[in-house]
Amino acid sequence: MFDGKTGAALWEDRRELRLRYQISVERIRKFYDGLREGRVLATRCRSCGELHFPPQSFCARCGSEDMEWVELSGEGELLTFTVIKAKPTSFSHYGDYTVGIARMPEGVNVLAWVSGDPGKLRVGTRVRLRVVRREPENYLTYELQPTE
Ligand SMILES: [Zn+2]
Repeated sequence: MFDGKTGAALWEDRRELRLRYQISVERIRKFYDGLREGRVLATRCRSCGELHFPPQSFCARCGSEDMEWVELSGEGELLTFTVIKAKPTSFSHYGDYTVGIARMPEGVNVLAWVSGDPGKLRVGTRVRLRVVRREPENYLTYELQPTE
């Protein structure tokens, strides 16, 4: 084959690549414990009160490491959403899905998949943050479920 711009001859080789990676989640392990209990947890800085979601082990506002875990109430309002039709490779096995951002009463925004018919969604739709098991990978995550 040839390079599209320069016309130079190219050699192309193909092989299957299987990736396995491990990332330490020790400092936010309680978040995953929370998912197993059906709870979505954020961290709050004990020094300045800033709430962080996704949870952080350091406060982005004041730099403190003195954080406490708090459960989000789970009831929020959709700020924006979009239907994903052109998916990244790692999500190519899913059908079209909706991603949205919800404002929670605690003052943090949550980015997550939105369940249900996207044609019924509006900015301002009430949503519930809930823990779900994502298949076929079989891992726990959270999504936004319309309640109206
Ligand atoms: Zn802080």
